[in-house]
Amino acid sequence: MESALYPGSFDPITFGHLNILDRALDVFAEVTVLVAVNPQKKPLFSLDECIEMIRDATAGRPRVRVDHHEGLLVDYARRHGIKLAVRGLRAVTDFESEFAMALTNRKLWPDFDTVFLMTRAEYMFLSSSVVRQVAQMGGDVSGFVPPCVEERLRLRFGYR
Ligand code: ADP
Repeated sequence: MESALYPGSFDPITFGHLNILDRALDVFAEVTVLVAVNPQKKPLFSLDECIEMIRDATAGRPRVRVDHHEGLLVDYARRHGIKLAVRGLRAVTDFESEFAMALTNRKLWPDFDTVFLMTRAEYMFLSSSVVRQVAQMGGDVSGFVPPCVEERLRLRFGYR
C-alpha cells in the first residue's frame, strides 16, 4: 500500500474534502493533506488556520498527515518520495483544469500520477467558496463543514 498526497487550498476544509479523504484512506496506507500556498490567491483563512482546522477535523484518523507547500506539487512529491496525488471531481467543469494539471504534473515528473475520485452526489455543489459565501451572509453551514470550521466561520463573520 502506497502513500498519496491530497493537495488543495482547503480554505476551509469541507465535508466534500473529508469524504474524498476517507475514500482515499480505503485505497492508500497514508494520505498527506497538503495545503498549497498560492501567493496569487487571497485566502479567507491564514495557512495556520487552515492547517489547524484540518488537524482538528481529521483528529480521529491516524493515517492522515497534514503539511503545506509553496511551489510545484511535484517538487514536494519527489522530495518525499510520493508518486500519487488524489483529487476530487464534482462536475464536468472540474474535468478540464484537473486534466491539464494532471498531465502537466506527469510531464514535470513522469513517475507521478493523479487518481480521481468522484464526489458523492450530496457534495456535488459543495465548495469552500460556497461555504465562505453562505457563512459571510450568516447562513447555516452545519451541513457543509465540521463543527470546528463552523465555529471559526462564526468568529470570523461575527454571527451566532
Ligand atoms: P483547489 O484550489 O486546489 O481546487 P480545493 O481546496 O478547492 O483546492 O479542493 C481540493 C480538492 O478537493 C480538489 O480536487 C477538489 O476538486 C476537491 N473537492 C473540493 N470540494 C469537493 C467536493 N464537494 N466533492 C469532491 N471533491 C471536492
